[in-house]
Amino acid sequence: MPLTSSLPCTLLLHGGSGRLHPAGTPFPQQTAYTDALTEAAQAGYAVLSKGGTSVEAVEASLRILEDSPLFNAGRGSVFSHAGVNEMDAALMDGATLRAGAVAGVRTVRNPISAARAVMERSSHVLLTGAGADEFAAEMGLATAAPEWFRVEARWQQWQALQQAEALAQAPSPSNLSTPKYGTVGAVALDQAGHLAAGTSTGGMLNKKYGRVGDSPLIGAGTYANHVCAVSGTGHGEFFIRHAVAHDIAALTEYRGLSVQQAAELVIHHKVAPAGGRGGVIVLDAQGNVAMPYSTEGMFWALVRADGRVETNICNMVIE
Ligand code: ASP
Repeated sequence: MPLTSSLPCTLLLHGGSGRLHPAGTPFPQQTAYTDALTEAAQAGYAVLSKGGTSVEAVEASLRILEDSPLFNAGRGSVFSHAGVNEMDAALMDGATLRAGAVAGVRTVRNPISAARAVMERSSHVLLTGAGADEFAAEMGLATAAPEWFRVEARWQQWQALQQAEALAQAPSPSNLSTPKYGTVGAVALDQAGHLAAGTSTGGMLNKKYGRVGDSPLIGAGTYANHVCAVSGTGHGEFFIRHAVAHDIAALTEYRGLSVQQAAELVIHHKVAPAGGRGGVIVLDAQGNVAMPYSTEGMFWALVRADGRVETNICNMVIE
């Protein structure tokens, strides 16, 4: 049922950035990716069309992508060097600048819901590790055993990397040479004209020493205010150094750039020349969107006030 509101109620999702399959080779999971992104977009739209908030819509869509084994978030997260799934997520309410985030969680089934609980039910912004899992459990959020998060393809990917490291006999001190993408994110504009942004990820394959990426860091991988909402995906260390999400918001607010101009400037002219690859989705309070990326591809889905879902499923390998 399309909305009757004149406000440009909008929801935009990403399903990670990455490299493309070689031209001409089949992409067997294309339909599965399209279906998952469409389902997530429709879930967010269902919230917005009933007058729900942008925060609720972002959470509803990201929970679906977290529960899908296709993406590097929740179930399907990449493995750390220690062979465990450690997840990060953040959620920000642009209307109030309230924000919540978790990093390095292992047992909460939907890290984006834990991030929302931190925002709404604690006096903090970012909780980490076992404490964050404990908080989520105390808030009554669903937990899951390690087997829930473990997806065979991810496990094989991790084992192959362990073998390669063993053969080279010189493990790298970090995973920086083997970035793997597939994070999920959402930005939404509700009928009240309020924006929100959320991001959820398993982080980078083979990450060590409790590494935390940009996704749960407000201003780096996730940011929302009254002007625009931003969620990023890519090589997190670069997104942190360049404060990517806040930089885009600042360019739109202080310099009056469009979201397209601001996002392209940051992704293509600041982060990429420094060696950082990835992309962002950006939405402003008028419903304008931008989704630039410097990787070969980025999955996204967009749903407008009329309820029609548009997806971009390029011939990409989620790594
Ligand atoms: N940005 C995420 C991180 O560095 C990874 C990704 O986007 O896939 O943890």
